[in-house]
Amino acid sequence: MASAYPVHLVLVGPPGAGKGTQAVMLERELGLKQISSGDLFRENLKNQTELGQLAQAYMDRGELVPDNVTIAMVAERIQRSDCAKGVIFDGFPRTLEQAKALDEMLALQDSEIRLVPALVSSDEVVIDRMTGRRVCRNCGAVYQISYNPPKVEGVCDVCSGELYQRSDDSPETVRNRLYVYYKQTSPLIGYYFAKNLLVRVNADQPIDAVNQAMLQAVKVVIE
Ligand code: ADP
Ligand code: AMP
Repeated sequence: MASAYPVHLVLVGPPGAGKGTQAVMLERELGLKQISSGDLFRENLKNQTELGQLAQAYMDRGELVPDNVTIAMVAERIQRSDCAKGVIFDGFPRTLEQAKALDEMLALQDSEIRLVPALVSSDEVVIDRMTGRRVCRNCGAVYQISYNPPKVEGVCDVCSGELYQRSDDSPETVRNRLYVYYKQTSPLIGYYFAKNLLVRVNADQPIDAVNQAMLQAVKVVIE
């Protein structure tokens, strides 16, 4: 298969499956740019922008921010030069409308999605992972209190920043986010399967084993 850049990958899977964790590793390993729509919203929230204020209510409930707002935010972000080699889309698209919009925005750049690794994980595993997730307030690095703990409790290994628990990682919100995933996001599996882009990766394994499986999967588009 062609190996010309840009190589755009879309990671799909339920919240807590490990999309962000794997995207950060692939970014380093493949030299592509991770774009997480959730991180973009959280950055806007932190900076108290209009977009952040709009997104907050949806995020607090574990619901999706409206498509038009989300699509505009990502369309603007992928114009930047750091996306030239390719993007690892993490958490976007999350609806069929977003998926179609992404196809259109990439077509405008004469590019396209090359592969869609789907992180397949069970409900119990993702619920357990999310409830123990901790994030660095300063650099955004992600930890898990049982499976990927920091060296010093509450302190980021990378930048010594303070770790916090996302408010939407509470048990009630986590359940709603999974429901939203099944209802609105899981149809993307069929959408990308039909386009022959889907490759399933077992995400119920330790982080490094998932990473090896991801590298194996993306080998066909990156040589
Ligand atoms: P997503 O981006 O899909 O919501 P994350 O990458 O944030 O998921 O992972 C959710 C939580 O699970 C984080 O706390 C992360 O450290 C942890 N995690 C990610 N992958 C694994 C794995 N393979 N095994 C155990 N824990 C994991
Ligand atoms: P995440 O960091 O991917 O778990 O996303 C956190 C929250 O941000 C989600 O529960 C949504 O409220 C919002 N969000 C992130 N990405 C999207 C998206 N592509 N479409 C709509 N809402 C999103």
